Amino acid sequence: MELKPLNLPGQKERPFVLAGPCSVETEEQVMTTARSLADKGIKIFRGGVWKPRTKPGGFEGHGEKALVWMKQVKEETGMMIATEVATPEHVELALKYGMDILWVGARTTANSFAVEALAASLKGVDIPILVKNPVTPDLDLWINALECLNNVGVKRLGAIHRGFSCYEKSVYRNQPMWHVPIELHRCLPDLPICCDPSHIGGRRDLIATLCQQAMDFGMDGLIIESHCNPDEAWSDAKQQIIPEVLSEILSNITIRDKVVSTENIMALRKQIDKIDNHLLELLAKRMEVCREIGQYKKDHSMAIVQTSRYNEILEKRGEQGAQMEVSAECIQKIFEQIHQESVRQQFEIMK
Ligand code: PEP
Ligand code: MN
Repeated sequence: MELKPLNLPGQKERPFVLAGPCSVETEEQVMTTARSLADKGIKIFRGGVWKPRTKPGGFEGHGEKALVWMKQVKEETGMMIATEVATPEHVELALKYGMDILWVGARTTANSFAVEALAASLKGVDIPILVKNPVTPDLDLWINALECLNNVGVKRLGAIHRGFSCYEKSVYRNQPMWHVPIELHRCLPDLPICCDPSHIGGRRDLIATLCQQAMDFGMDGLIIESHCNPDEAWSDAKQQIIPEVLSEILSNITIRDKVVSTENIMALRKQIDKIDNHLLELLAKRMEVCREIGQYKKDHSMAIVQTSRYNEILEKRGEQGAQMEVSAECIQKIFEQIHQESVRQQFEIMK
Protein backbone atom coordinates (compact mmCIF):
# COMPACT_ATOMS: atom_id res chain seq x y z
CA MET A 1 0.00 0.00 0.00
CA GLU A 2 1.49 3.35 -1.03
CA LEU A 3 1.08 5.83 1.81
CA LYS A 4 2.02 9.46 2.29
CA PRO A 5 2.54 11.11 5.69
CA LEU A 6 -0.59 12.48 7.33
CA ASN A 7 1.41 15.54 8.39
CA LEU A 8 -0.86 16.32 11.30
CA PRO A 9 0.17 18.80 13.98
CA GLY A 10 1.70 16.95 16.92
CA GLN A 11 2.35 13.77 15.01
CA LYS A 12 6.13 13.85 15.29
CA GLU A 13 6.14 14.06 19.08
CA ARG A 14 3.21 11.67 19.59
CA PRO A 15 0.36 11.81 20.15
CA PHE A 16 -1.46 13.91 17.61
CA VAL A 17 -4.81 14.74 19.15
CA LEU A 18 -8.28 15.23 17.74
CA ALA A 19 -10.74 16.50 20.34
CA GLY A 20 -14.27 17.80 20.34
CA PRO A 21 -17.85 16.80 21.01
CA CYS A 22 -19.44 13.54 19.94
CA SER A 23 -22.15 15.58 18.20
CA VAL A 24 -22.36 19.15 17.01
CA GLU A 25 -25.46 20.25 18.94
CA THR A 26 -25.81 24.05 19.00
CA GLU A 27 -23.72 26.97 17.84
CA GLU A 28 -23.06 27.91 21.45
CA GLN A 29 -21.99 24.40 22.49
CA VAL A 30 -19.62 24.06 19.54
CA MET A 31 -18.06 27.50 19.88
CA THR A 32 -17.65 27.32 23.68
CA THR A 33 -16.05 23.88 23.47
CA ALA A 34 -13.85 24.86 20.54
CA ARG A 35 -12.57 28.08 22.14
CA SER A 36 -11.69 26.25 25.30
CA LEU A 37 -9.92 23.42 23.44
CA ALA A 38 -7.97 25.86 21.26
CA ASP A 39 -6.96 27.64 24.44
CA LYS A 40 -5.49 24.42 25.76
CA GLY A 41 -3.40 23.91 22.65
CA ILE A 42 -5.62 21.45 20.79
CA LYS A 43 -4.97 21.73 17.06
CA ILE A 44 -7.64 19.48 15.54
CA PHE A 45 -11.33 19.80 16.39
CA ARG A 46 -13.66 16.83 15.92
CA GLY A 47 -17.44 17.08 15.75
CA GLY A 48 -20.16 14.67 14.64
CA VAL A 49 -22.33 16.24 11.95
CA TRP A 50 -24.12 13.06 10.84
CA LYS A 51 -24.63 10.59 13.68
CA PRO A 52 -25.10 6.87 13.10
CA ARG A 53 -27.70 5.86 15.64
CA THR A 54 -27.97 2.38 17.08
CA LYS A 55 -31.10 3.13 19.11
CA PRO A 56 -34.30 4.51 17.60
CA GLY A 57 -34.97 8.09 18.61
CA GLY A 58 -31.32 9.04 19.09
CA PHE A 59 -29.90 12.31 17.78
CA GLU A 60 -29.06 11.99 14.10
CA GLY A 61 -26.99 15.13 13.73
CA HIS A 62 -27.81 18.52 12.18
CA GLY A 63 -26.08 17.88 8.83
CA GLU A 64 -25.36 21.02 6.82
CA LYS A 65 -26.36 23.40 9.63
CA ALA A 66 -23.64 21.87 11.80
CA LEU A 67 -21.10 22.28 9.01
CA VAL A 68 -21.65 26.04 9.12
CA TRP A 69 -20.63 26.05 12.82
CA MET A 70 -17.66 23.77 12.16
CA LYS A 71 -16.42 26.19 9.52
CA GLN A 72 -16.83 28.99 12.04
CA VAL A 73 -14.63 27.05 14.47
CA LYS A 74 -11.93 26.79 11.83
CA GLU A 75 -12.10 30.48 10.95
CA GLU A 76 -12.19 31.75 14.52
CA THR A 77 -9.73 29.42 16.27
CA GLY A 78 -7.49 28.30 13.41
CA MET A 79 -7.93 24.65 14.43
CA MET A 80 -8.25 22.02 11.73
CA ILE A 81 -11.71 20.46 11.60
CA ALA A 82 -12.68 16.80 11.27
CA THR A 83 -15.93 14.90 10.95
CA GLU A 84 -17.36 11.48 10.13
CA VAL A 85 -18.68 10.77 6.65
CA ALA A 86 -20.75 7.77 5.65
CA THR A 87 -22.06 8.59 2.15
CA PRO A 88 -20.85 10.39 -0.99
CA GLU A 89 -23.32 13.21 -0.18
CA HIS A 90 -21.63 13.70 3.19
CA VAL A 91 -18.23 13.88 1.48
CA GLU A 92 -19.42 16.49 -0.97
CA LEU A 93 -20.93 18.70 1.72
CA ALA A 94 -18.02 18.25 4.16
CA LEU A 95 -15.54 19.34 1.49
CA LYS A 96 -17.73 22.27 0.52
CA TYR A 97 -17.43 23.58 4.09
CA GLY A 98 -13.65 23.15 4.22
CA MET A 99 -13.34 20.00 6.33
CA ASP A 100 -9.61 19.23 6.78
CA ILE A 101 -9.87 15.60 7.87
CA LEU A 102 -12.59 13.00 7.39
CA TRP A 103 -13.12 9.74 9.17
CA VAL A 104 -15.10 6.64 8.29
CA GLY A 105 -17.20 5.35 11.21
CA ALA A 106 -17.17 1.82 12.57
CA ARG A 107 -20.57 0.93 11.12
CA THR A 108 -19.54 2.15 7.69
CA THR A 109 -16.23 0.25 7.68
CA ALA A 110 -18.24 -2.89 8.38
CA ASN A 111 -20.20 -2.43 5.16
CA SER A 112 -18.15 -2.95 2.02
CA PHE A 113 -20.86 -1.51 -0.27
CA ALA A 114 -20.82 1.74 1.69
CA VAL A 115 -17.02 1.79 1.66
CA GLU A 116 -16.94 1.35 -2.14
CA ALA A 117 -19.35 4.24 -2.62
CA LEU A 118 -17.35 6.44 -0.24
CA ALA A 119 -14.11 5.56 -1.98
CA ALA A 120 -15.54 6.51 -5.37
CA SER A 121 -16.52 9.92 -3.99
CA LEU A 122 -13.04 10.46 -2.50
CA LYS A 123 -11.18 9.90 -5.74
CA GLY A 124 -8.68 12.72 -6.20
CA VAL A 125 -9.31 14.19 -2.72
CA ASP A 126 -5.99 14.83 -1.00
CA ILE A 127 -6.86 15.26 2.69
CA PRO A 128 -6.21 12.82 5.54
CA ILE A 129 -8.83 10.09 5.84
CA LEU A 130 -8.99 8.04 9.03
CA VAL A 131 -10.72 4.67 9.03
CA LYS A 132 -12.25 3.35 12.23
CA ASN A 133 -12.14 -0.37 12.88
CA PRO A 134 -15.35 -2.23 11.98
CA VAL A 135 -17.67 -3.00 14.90
CA THR A 136 -16.59 -6.65 14.92
CA PRO A 137 -12.96 -7.70 15.36
CA ASP A 138 -12.47 -8.47 11.68
CA LEU A 139 -9.02 -7.31 10.60
CA ASP A 140 -9.58 -8.19 6.94
CA LEU A 141 -12.63 -5.95 6.80
CA TRP A 142 -10.60 -3.08 8.30
CA ILE A 143 -7.75 -3.57 5.83
CA ASN A 144 -10.24 -3.95 2.99
CA ALA A 145 -11.67 -0.49 3.70
CA LEU A 146 -8.18 1.04 3.85
CA GLU A 147 -7.18 -0.67 0.60
CA CYS A 148 -10.37 0.35 -1.10
CA LEU A 149 -9.59 4.02 -0.36
CA ASN A 150 -5.93 3.60 -1.23
CA ASN A 151 -6.87 2.08 -4.58
CA VAL A 152 -8.69 5.24 -5.65
CA GLY A 153 -5.62 7.32 -4.74
CA VAL A 154 -6.15 8.24 -1.08
CA LYS A 155 -2.58 8.14 0.22
CA ARG A 156 -2.88 10.16 3.42
CA LEU A 157 -4.52 7.37 5.36
CA GLY A 158 -4.72 6.53 9.04
CA ALA A 159 -6.63 4.09 11.23
CA ILE A 160 -8.69 4.66 14.37
CA HIS A 161 -8.93 1.92 16.97
CA ARG A 162 -12.29 2.36 18.75
CA GLY A 163 -12.74 -1.12 20.18
CA PHE A 164 -15.14 -3.92 19.29
CA SER A 165 -18.77 -4.61 20.17
CA CYS A 166 -19.30 -7.60 22.32
CA TYR A 167 -22.55 -9.12 23.55
CA GLU A 168 -21.12 -9.86 26.98
CA LYS A 169 -21.06 -7.04 29.53
CA SER A 170 -17.67 -5.75 30.61
CA VAL A 171 -16.21 -2.57 32.07
CA TYR A 172 -15.64 -1.31 28.54
CA ARG A 173 -18.30 -0.14 26.13
CA ASN A 174 -16.24 -1.67 23.33
CA GLN A 175 -13.58 -4.29 24.01
CA PRO A 176 -10.13 -2.91 23.18
CA MET A 177 -8.72 -6.26 21.91
CA TRP A 178 -5.35 -4.56 21.54
CA HIS A 179 -3.98 -7.48 19.53
CA VAL A 180 -6.16 -6.41 16.57
CA PRO A 181 -4.60 -2.94 16.06
CA ILE A 182 -1.20 -4.47 16.84
CA GLU A 183 -1.76 -6.99 14.05
CA LEU A 184 -2.87 -4.14 11.77
CA HIS A 185 0.43 -2.40 12.54
CA ARG A 186 2.32 -5.59 11.70
CA CYS A 187 0.53 -5.79 8.32
CA LEU A 188 0.81 -2.05 7.53
CA PRO A 189 3.78 -0.69 9.51
CA ASP A 190 3.66 2.76 7.89
CA LEU A 191 0.00 3.38 8.64
CA PRO A 192 -0.51 5.77 11.57
CA ILE A 193 -2.94 4.45 14.18
CA CYS A 194 -4.95 6.60 16.50
CA CYS A 195 -6.83 5.36 19.57
CA ASP A 196 -10.35 6.41 20.53
CA PRO A 197 -10.48 5.87 24.30
CA SER A 198 -13.89 7.54 24.52
CA HIS A 199 -15.72 4.88 22.52
CA ILE A 200 -13.64 2.03 23.94
CA GLY A 201 -14.23 3.09 27.54
CA GLY A 202 -17.73 4.51 27.29
CA ARG A 203 -16.97 6.02 30.69
CA ARG A 204 -15.06 9.15 31.67
CA ASP A 205 -12.99 7.48 34.38
CA LEU A 206 -11.46 4.97 31.96
CA ILE A 207 -10.08 7.51 29.49
CA ALA A 208 -6.77 8.40 31.16
CA THR A 209 -5.67 4.77 31.51
CA LEU A 210 -6.71 3.93 27.96
CA CYS A 211 -4.73 6.90 26.60
CA GLN A 212 -1.61 5.73 28.43
CA GLN A 213 -2.11 2.16 27.23
CA ALA A 214 -2.49 3.35 23.64
CA MET A 215 0.78 5.26 23.90
CA ASP A 216 2.51 2.26 25.46
CA PHE A 217 1.33 0.16 22.53
CA GLY A 218 3.09 2.67 20.26
CA MET A 219 0.02 4.32 18.78
CA ASP A 220 0.48 7.65 17.05
CA GLY A 221 -2.62 9.63 17.95
CA LEU A 222 -5.70 10.00 20.12
CA ILE A 223 -9.25 11.04 19.27
CA ILE A 224 -11.10 12.05 22.40
CA GLU A 225 -14.64 13.31 22.92
CA SER A 226 -14.74 16.60 24.77
CA HIS A 227 -17.80 18.73 25.51
CA CYS A 228 -18.29 21.98 27.44
CA ASN A 229 -21.14 20.40 29.42
CA PRO A 230 -20.86 16.60 29.12
CA ASP A 231 -23.76 15.69 31.39
CA GLU A 232 -26.14 17.52 29.07
CA ALA A 233 -24.66 16.09 25.85
CA TRP A 234 -27.18 14.86 23.28
CA SER A 235 -25.13 11.73 22.59
CA ASP A 236 -22.49 9.70 24.45
CA ALA A 237 -22.89 11.85 27.59
CA LYS A 238 -21.16 9.39 29.93
CA GLN A 239 -17.89 9.31 28.03
CA GLN A 240 -17.36 12.99 27.25
CA ILE A 241 -15.00 15.14 29.30
CA ILE A 242 -14.62 18.88 29.72
CA PRO A 243 -11.61 20.49 27.98
CA GLU A 244 -9.88 21.07 31.36
CA VAL A 245 -9.94 17.37 32.18
CA LEU A 246 -8.76 16.50 28.69
CA SER A 247 -5.85 18.86 29.06
CA GLU A 248 -4.91 17.31 32.41
CA ILE A 249 -5.09 13.78 30.99
CA LEU A 250 -2.85 14.75 28.07
CA SER A 251 -0.27 16.40 30.27
CA ASN A 252 -0.07 13.29 32.47
CA ILE A 253 0.70 10.90 29.63
CA THR A 254 4.18 9.42 29.65
CA ILE A 255 5.66 8.80 26.24
CA ARG A 256 8.07 5.92 26.32
CA ASP A 257 10.52 5.84 23.44
CA LYS A 258 9.55 3.51 20.66
CA VAL A 259 12.92 2.02 19.74
CA VAL A 260 15.60 1.74 22.36
CA SER A 261 18.15 -0.90 21.61
CA THR A 262 20.82 -0.86 24.27
CA GLU A 263 23.47 -3.53 24.86
CA ASN A 264 21.47 -4.79 27.82
CA ILE A 265 18.33 -5.36 25.90
CA MET A 266 20.28 -7.18 23.18
CA ALA A 267 21.72 -9.58 25.74
CA LEU A 268 18.29 -10.15 27.25
CA ARG A 269 16.80 -10.79 23.82
CA LYS A 270 19.48 -13.41 23.16
CA GLN A 271 18.40 -15.15 26.33
CA ILE A 272 14.79 -15.05 25.15
CA ASP A 273 15.79 -16.58 21.80
CA LYS A 274 17.56 -19.39 23.63
CA ILE A 275 14.59 -20.05 25.90
CA ASP A 276 12.20 -20.02 22.94
CA ASN A 277 14.35 -22.59 21.19
CA HIS A 278 14.14 -24.78 24.28
CA LEU A 279 10.39 -24.37 24.38
CA LEU A 280 10.09 -25.38 20.73
CA GLU A 281 12.28 -28.43 21.18
CA LEU A 282 10.24 -29.49 24.19
CA LEU A 283 7.02 -28.97 22.27
CA ALA A 284 8.29 -31.09 19.40
CA LYS A 285 9.25 -33.80 21.88
CA ARG A 286 5.80 -33.63 23.46
CA MET A 287 4.18 -34.04 20.04
CA GLU A 288 6.36 -37.08 19.36
CA VAL A 289 5.01 -38.74 22.53
CA CYS A 290 1.48 -37.71 21.54
CA ARG A 291 1.88 -39.47 18.20
CA GLU A 292 3.00 -42.61 20.04
CA ILE A 293 -0.10 -42.37 22.21
CA GLY A 294 -2.11 -41.93 18.99
CA GLN A 295 -0.71 -45.19 17.67
CA TYR A 296 -1.58 -46.89 20.95
CA LYS A 297 -5.13 -45.55 20.84
CA LYS A 298 -5.49 -46.77 17.26
CA ASP A 299 -4.19 -50.26 18.11
CA HIS A 300 -6.59 -50.49 21.06
CA SER A 301 -9.61 -48.85 19.37
CA MET A 302 -9.65 -46.00 21.88
CA ALA A 303 -11.27 -42.59 21.22
CA ILE A 304 -8.80 -39.76 20.60
CA VAL A 305 -10.18 -37.24 23.04
CA GLN A 306 -10.39 -38.44 26.61
CA THR A 307 -12.24 -35.57 28.25
CA SER A 308 -11.27 -36.35 31.83
CA ARG A 309 -7.59 -36.41 30.92
CA TYR A 310 -7.96 -33.14 29.03
CA ASN A 311 -9.64 -31.42 31.97
CA GLU A 312 -7.01 -32.75 34.34
CA ILE A 313 -4.22 -31.30 32.20
CA LEU A 314 -5.84 -27.88 31.90
CA GLU A 315 -6.54 -27.66 35.61
CA LYS A 316 -3.18 -28.94 36.83
CA ARG A 317 -1.10 -26.90 34.41
CA GLY A 318 -3.12 -23.79 35.28
CA GLU A 319 -2.36 -24.31 38.99
CA GLN A 320 1.30 -25.00 38.32
CA GLY A 321 1.53 -21.89 36.18
CA ALA A 322 -0.03 -19.73 38.88
CA GLN A 323 2.60 -21.01 41.36
CA MET A 324 5.28 -19.93 38.90
CA GLU A 325 3.90 -16.41 38.48
CA VAL A 326 2.23 -17.01 35.15
CA SER A 327 -1.55 -16.54 35.21
CA ALA A 328 -3.56 -19.76 35.25
CA GLU A 329 -5.77 -18.36 32.52
CA CYS A 330 -2.82 -17.80 30.19
CA ILE A 331 -1.40 -21.28 30.82
CA GLN A 332 -4.79 -22.85 30.20
CA LYS A 333 -5.05 -21.04 26.89
CA ILE A 334 -1.60 -22.25 25.84
CA PHE A 335 -2.44 -25.82 26.78
CA GLU A 336 -5.74 -25.63 24.93
CA GLN A 337 -3.76 -24.83 21.79
CA ILE A 338 -1.19 -27.54 22.47
CA HIS A 339 -3.97 -30.05 23.04
CA GLN A 340 -5.66 -29.02 19.81
CA GLU A 341 -2.47 -29.68 17.88
CA SER A 342 -1.98 -33.06 19.62
CA VAL A 343 -5.51 -34.07 18.68
CA ARG A 344 -4.89 -33.02 15.08
CA GLN A 345 -1.73 -35.09 14.93
CA GLN A 346 -3.46 -38.12 16.43
CA PHE A 347 -6.23 -37.81 13.85
CA GLU A 348 -3.56 -38.01 11.14
CA ILE A 349 -2.42 -41.30 12.63
CA MET A 350 -5.98 -42.68 12.87
CA LYS A 351 -6.59 -42.01 9.17
C1 PEP B 1 -18.13 8.87 16.96
O1 PEP B 1 -16.93 9.01 16.74
O2 PEP B 1 -18.84 9.69 17.54
C2 PEP B 1 -18.76 7.59 16.53
C3 PEP B 1 -20.01 7.50 16.16
O3 PEP B 1 -17.91 6.57 16.63
P1 PEP B 1 -17.95 5.02 16.12
O4 PEP B 1 -18.06 5.05 14.64
O5 PEP B 1 -16.62 4.55 16.60
O6 PEP B 1 -19.08 4.34 16.84
MN1 MN C 1 -19.60 9.41 20.09
